[in-house]
Amino acid sequence: MNIAFENAKKNLPIKGFLDMPVDPSLDLFVEIKKLKEEKNAIILAHYYQEADIQDVADYLGDSLGLAQQAEKTNADMIVFAGVHFMAETAKILNPTKKVVLPDLKAGCSLADSAPADAFKKFKEAYPDHIVITYINCTAEIKSLSDIICTSGNVEKIIESLPADQKIIFAPDRNLGAYINKKTGRNMLLWDGSCIVHEIFSLEKILSLKQANPDAKIIAHPECEEVLLNHADYIGSTTQLLNYTKTDAAQAYIVATETGILHQMEKNSPHKKFIPAPPDNACACNDCPYMKLNTLEKLYLCMKYELPEIAMDEQLRLAAKKPIDRMLEISRHAGLIK
Ligand code: SF4
Repeated sequence: MNIAFENAKKNLPIKGFLDMPVDPSLDLFVEIKKLKEEKNAIILAHYYQEADIQDVADYLGDSLGLAQQAEKTNADMIVFAGVHFMAETAKILNPTKKVVLPDLKAGCSLADSAPADAFKKFKEAYPDHIVITYINCTAEIKSLSDIICTSGNVEKIIESLPADQKIIFAPDRNLGAYINKKTGRNMLLWDGSCIVHEIFSLEKILSLKQANPDAKIIAHPECEEVLLNHADYIGSTTQLLNYTKTDAAQAYIVATETGILHQMEKNSPHKKFIPAPPDNACACNDCPYMKLNTLEKLYLCMKYELPEIAMDEQLRLAAKKPIDRMLEISRHAGLIK
């Protein structure tokens, strides 16, 4: 009997992950590769994961790409290196597959900013509105939505609706305000936000720009409007990455989670990438939830197939409908194949 595992399993509901020692002599890159083959597992990782996790992933992407990969995979086990709502989305799309997440406590401040009870009441007050919800939300909120969107497809989804269609947009007020401005719509916004994208210091970014006048400021639309007004380019994580690959500039101040810099540097090694600083003592801006996942936790969750995402079937079916609509509109718009 593996006592360390039995204890870690017992403590899982409190800890959120298998808290047990990993043999330090193991090469985790090799072990994870072996486990992938043995278990016919696929590792889907978000761009905000630490560099080592990005390097062992089979697929690396933002929310839209990850949802699409989760939908089409033939693997028996999906190892989701990201946050809880992303692993939940994979489970919603793949009820028969095992979905594991290295740390169940890898949550999301944006998802937390929309509690299901309060959101249900809000929605009921506007019965003539349809609900478009950013994918960063819980399965309960998805089940109350008409269409899910990501920062990569939100404009196409809004454009697919008649101009006079009344819309509730949730949970991110910054992304909603940015889309209102860009499309001329007047969507009703839920008052939620992401702690990582709201904490950037405009003052520090502007002094960085002064010190690096040739650097372009590129930003995620979850950032506040006051920062977006200074950005040379605004886009989803994948759009920001693609922009730095093709754009002629040689330096960028990147206003989103710092994990994406690993891919930017890999793809354009001759360019300079400066993380936009937050309004605290740190020089770069990490998502504390994304960074709860480590290579050790990833290895353990693959080896022991825990913690696993479980979901009530009725909730899953209700949450799947708006995701299916998103994937359908994205396919129609040529955003995914
Ligand atoms: S960066 Fe923000 S939106 Fe993304 S997972 Fe972290 S808290 Fe959530």
